[in-house]
Amino acid sequence: MENENIVRPELEDEQEENLETSLRPKSLKDYIGQTKVKESMKIYIEAAKKRKEALDHCLFYGPPGLGKTTISGIIANEMHSKIKITSGPAIEKPGDLAGLLTNLEEYDVLFIDEIHRLSKTVEEILYPALEDYVLDITIGKGPEAKSIRLDLPKFTLIGATTKAGALTTPLRDRFGIVQKLELYSVEDLSTIVKRSSKILKTPIDDESCKEIARRSRGTPRIANRLLKRVRDYALVLGDGKINLKITKHALNQLEIDEIGLDETDRKMLSMMIVQYSGRPVGIEALASSLGEEIDTIEDVYEPYLLQIGFIARTPRGRQVLPPAYEHLGFELK
Ligand code: ADP
Repeated sequence: MENENIVRPELEDEQEENLETSLRPKSLKDYIGQTKVKESMKIYIEAAKKRKEALDHCLFYGPPGLGKTTISGIIANEMHSKIKITSGPAIEKPGDLAGLLTNLEEYDVLFIDEIHRLSKTVEEILYPALEDYVLDITIGKGPEAKSIRLDLPKFTLIGATTKAGALTTPLRDRFGIVQKLELYSVEDLSTIVKRSSKILKTPIDDESCKEIARRSRGTPRIANRLLKRVRDYALVLGDGKINLKITKHALNQLEIDEIGLDETDRKMLSMMIVQYSGRPVGIEALASSLGEEIDTIEDVYEPYLLQIGFIARTPRGRQVLPPAYEHLGFELK
């Protein structure tokens, strides 16, 4: 189905990539919301610059699409340094990481997305690199093997993850700066929609910005994606300007309801209400009944449903709460 990926912030489709790049803020002042994170990063960046040192290694965690990659790019910009972007699964062998590290220059940022997915052997290479800026490599095999130590430039590792709990303790302990990104408020998302529509040269009124924001489940990537779809409707069905009528029509066509829930959310909540009679249900059972991956439920669907108080995590599993009954029109037993 055409609509089914619209609220999946972990997916970045090709067509979107160029637009995503242009919509991505380049400086801290354009990075909307996340005030606490921004304020502390400003201090750490200033201090590192004053000391003429590399910024301490940073870990950003939170659901997909909240701006972890974006803030990392901004940090590199503010440090006047370059950023190299890679991901945990892309670094298959210790040699891959060694290649990346030896190509860095002083104060560069190495950004590793999904850092919880680094293999153990790769992770072990990273420890001395993070702590002492050195790389231990073994040349040759068997009794002939020699270990040599290379000095690395003073660099900053920025790790991003949706699952801070999945990081090993030794890796987590090597980040001097650990920041959690929160879901965005409707006001902040409205500002993001407004800013993006300016970049896209699409006139939009404040009500429509707010409507898109309300249905974006706290996630800038979803807000931008919805804006682009609404913009299509405005162009084809209207005069290209976005107003509330067009916005509501487009979002209804996309089957995103007034609070941003899509078909999968509604299916999951109904299942918890009807099939499991509102009792706690294990994530494995939920995933298999829905035909979704556990990770997708945990990273994509759950954070927003938890935030709006539709479900709760209990020691016996996920439990559906009264506001979900009300929203879906079920009588509370
Ligand atoms: P993550 O790395 O957490 O998955 P990204 O950094 O790729 O998320 O952000 C997704 C998109 O959302 C970006 O391309 C950017 O356009 C937008 N975005 C994210 N955070 C912000 C922000 N604070 N202000 C404005 N736009 C943002």
